[in-house]
Amino acid sequence: MARVYNFSAGPAVLPEEVLREAADEMMDYQGSGQSVMEMSHRSKVYDNIIKEAEADLRELMNIPDNYKVLFLQGGASQFFAEVPMNLMKNKKAAYVITGQWAKKAFAEAKIYGEAVEVASSADKTFSYIPDCSDLDIPEDADYVYICENNTIYGTKFKTLPNTKGHLLVSDISSCFLSEPIDVTKYGVVYGGVQKNVGPAGVVIAIIREDLITDDVLPGTPTMLKWKTQADADSLYNTPPCYNIYICGKVFKWLKKMGGLSVMKERNEEKAKILYDFLDESKMFTGTVVKEDRSIMNVPFVTGDADLDAKFVKEATAAGFVNLKGHRTVGGMRASIYNAMPKEGVIKLVEFMKNFEKENTK
Ligand SMILES: *Cc1c(COP(=O)(O)O)cnc(C)c1O
Repeated sequence: MARVYNFSAGPAVLPEEVLREAADEMMDYQGSGQSVMEMSHRSKVYDNIIKEAEADLRELMNIPDNYKVLFLQGGASQFFAEVPMNLMKNKKAAYVITGQWAKKAFAEAKIYGEAVEVASSADKTFSYIPDCSDLDIPEDADYVYICENNTIYGTKFKTLPNTKGHLLVSDISSCFLSEPIDVTKYGVVYGGVQKNVGPAGVVIAIIREDLITDDVLPGTPTMLKWKTQADADSLYNTPPCYNIYICGKVFKWLKKMGGLSVMKERNEEKAKILYDFLDESKMFTGTVVKEDRSIMNVPFVTGDADLDAKFVKEATAAGFVNLKGHRTVGGMRASIYNAMPKEGVIKLVEFMKNFEKENTK
């Protein structure tokens, strides 16, 4: 079996144990005589799968009872529209612009109301997180929106913005389950699962109950109204059954690993190996200011586009794949999500050291 070290930003590496289990259950899920792909979403056996997935996620994230967990479709990109549709009572919201995904969410919100940019790090190619301790938030803003871990630029909010009493909405797609979070600090926290949790096709949204109402913007499609989904326990229509099943397996794997505090330690340890090397290397440099570095997505450059390309090509041939940086940043990016073993990062750094030696005169 030739598995590579996959540094993709998403869809991304999944735990091998989960993939093996899914393979074992492919033809006959626990004596049902069917694959999970083939069974009715209204069956008892599937109901157990989705209920157990939710219960395990609640336990992992310590989600309070007054928050609903929704398994949705449409990707994080569709959720960009769902946020204003469901929350813009005053048709006004504040956005912190820290990269492409925040920009896209901001642009989407503008379709539905007045979206105000209250901070941005666009001036330095989103290589830092702006100071959000004293934002000029309009009094009547319905919420403050952030993208907590910036997948493309490799920055992460280490402290949440001071929202001055406003609701906080956060896109945690690329740091979902990478470390513990305090759910009570948010009104809505959500993410596409294909970065750190499971196969593409599911968005998990954790929403404070009082925010789920019939009072949505006129014209909001039934499917995009959170109340529809909440009232039906995410089974209003056919959900992405198989993908939710795999997410459930990842939750069990995370519990077995020791939970999110243990994952945080592991992730910090992995990231440190890579950042320490970037800090000492004469060829490779990280692109993000130290205090805002993500422990999930690590962009770096050599400063020479041809050398970058050579590195990506040789790394790929050596079994370190998907290291090419986002087209808007160039260079390289190593995404080192939960399922990337420490060994993968150590070996990548060894490879980088050798590359540096061989390409320095
Ligand atoms: C990938 C990503 C998205 C977009 O996700 P889709 O599911 O493809 O719509 C949004 N936000 C962040 C932070 C991401 O990393």
